[in-house]
Amino acid sequence: MKTKPIPVPLSPDELTRFLGLVPTESDPTDCWEWMGTRSQSGYGVFFIRGRSYMAHRVMHSIFIGELEDGDFVLHACDNPACVNLFHIRKGTAKDNTADAQAWRTGERRSRW
Ligand SMILES: [Zn+2]
Repeated sequence: MKTKPIPVPLSPDELTRFLGLVPTESDPTDCWEWMGTRSQSGYGVFFIRGRSYMAHRVMHSIFIGELEDGDFVLHACDNPACVNLFHIRKGTAKDNTADAQAWRTGERRSRW
């Protein structure tokens, strides 16, 4: 699956708008639930220059590191709307599937 590269660095205005949708006042260990638009599958959506991007991928690109084509950003908390820096990590499509399966079967109960 081809993934859209996030156009980082964002402009100061875009960055301000992005951070305005992140509940940073919440406890750092809690999920930071995206306050903007959500996709049908529950992921946060952020619009940059008229295009939509997944908020947790934008978060990763800005604060953790840029994503290569094919990189997935996985949630430790299984909460698609969460953009907490400490709950997301980069992985492959295979990791993503393994993760989803583990959650479904109940093997994954704890965070990393
Ligand atoms: Zn979370």
